[in-house]
Amino acid sequence: MVIIGGGHVGLSFALLLAHHGIDSVLVEQSVYPTISPDDDTARTQYLDSRNTALSRRTVQIYERIGLWQSLQSHACRIDSVHISELGSFGRAVLDKKAEGVESFGQVMENAWLGRQLLLAAKANAHITLHDDAKVVNITQDATSASVSVEQAGRAFVLSAPLVVACDGSQSPSRALLGIGTSTHDYNQVGIVGVVQTDKPHQHIGIEKFSEVGPLAVLPLTDGRGDGADDSTAGFRRSVVFICPKGEEARYLQDDEFFLATLQQVFGDDAGRFVQAGRRGAYPLTKILADRQVVGRCVVMGNAAHTLHPVAGQGFNLCLRDADTLAAMLAHEKRQAQAAGKTADLGDYQKLRAYEQARQKDQQRVIKFCDTVVGSFTSKNPVMKFARNVGLIAFDKIPGIKPMVAAYAMGLKS
Ligand SMILES: Cc1cc2nc3c(=O)[nH]c(=O)nc-3n(C[C@H](O)[C@H](O)[C@H](O)COP(=O)(O)OP(=O)(O)OC[C@H]3O[C@@H](n4cnc5c(N)ncnc54)[C@H](O)[C@@H]3O)c2cc1C
Repeated sequence: MVIIGGGHVGLSFALLLAHHGIDSVLVEQSVYPTISPDDDTARTQYLDSRNTALSRRTVQIYERIGLWQSLQSHACRIDSVHISELGSFGRAVLDKKAEGVESFGQVMENAWLGRQLLLAAKANAHITLHDDAKVVNITQDATSASVSVEQAGRAFVLSAPLVVACDGSQSPSRALLGIGTSTHDYNQVGIVGVVQTDKPHQHIGIEKFSEVGPLAVLPLTDGRGDGADDSTAGFRRSVVFICPKGEEARYLQDDEFFLATLQQVFGDDAGRFVQAGRRGAYPLTKILADRQVVGRCVVMGNAAHTLHPVAGQGFNLCLRDADTLAAMLAHEKRQAQAAGKTADLGDYQKLRAYEQARQKDQQRVIKFCDTVVGSFTSKNPVMKFARNVGLIAFDKIPGIKPMVAAYAMGLKS
């Protein structure tokens, strides 16, 4: 099997396949850093400045393939989530004890997640990695699909019964396969990074809705990975701040302005914002592939669906797709082996069955994100009142919170 794109989804998919004993060749256009397992400072230079809220289901998937052990030293639990609207009276609290759950997920720096995925993939005999290698063409016939690769001045072709493209939002593979998209530009930019407050986070996530969009402050580990991270002493927090497109420069460049804005938005909820770290800016566009299977090729990850980061659902949804496809392929392989045959892992009907099996979860998450973005950014005073009543109702009506909590944890699909 060939995987195009070795971001978090491509690497995770390769590791899920490997767990089932399925070999893959992964082609990544960027140059992977050389990382020693003993040197964890390398993580700060690798990948991006984002942090990802991993749902309970994502943690369960990584636990199953034996990866969570190496990830958890830099994972920070979310024990409760406080949701409110800027300048309004409504407030809702999701608490792990009240909902009877272990946590609402774990927050991790992308740099650490990427580092551990890469180390695991490099050490796995089922995975062959080609980095600094760009896929420039895809062809397919009745028995196999072939990708043309350009790597450091040389060109070669890889053929396999199945090609899975995890090459991101702008997915060149999607275009090569003739898959159209529906897109929606939010005209917003997500500014993400790490800040420090003078009040410990106590494993509380704070989500504040404003007319611009949802703003979140999530607990982070102290970054040492020495076990102290699990205490409530942590003062580091991950910030997702959303601003209209074109206004991002000042938030990125001016630390004092950024900290003062956060203070204004969050008031005393997180204490005093005392220090801001490196920040990255991500233009927000929803991109949905019209189809996810063409012949022997599948698009997955952001190539299949790129969502607004409002509820921290994007990567979690991608991982559930990857887990499902890996399990279906493993099942095919086992069945064929039992019958003394070789499985055709790129069988179109089976791949379509995968696509259909994932529809419900994908549609539900897309709708959830659309609803949250739409209702909380409306300037209509009636909507504003309804939002507040909604938050109060959310806090008081029995049965609603467990449902939303299960959903946010990725346990409902
Ligand atoms: C601000 C922000 C915050 C977010 N927070 C969360 C969160 O808290 N929780 C959550 O679940 N999700 C979150 N997400 C979503 C999450 O980041 C994405 O869903 C996830 O990163 C998608 O990973 P991917 O591997 O599909 O794509 P990418 O990370 O884009 O990887 C694609 C890879 O393909 C490679 N590639 C591209 N073209 C080629 C080619 N021709 N040949 C070879 N390789 C190629 C690229 O170099 C890249 O490495 C957030 C997103 C944003 C923007």
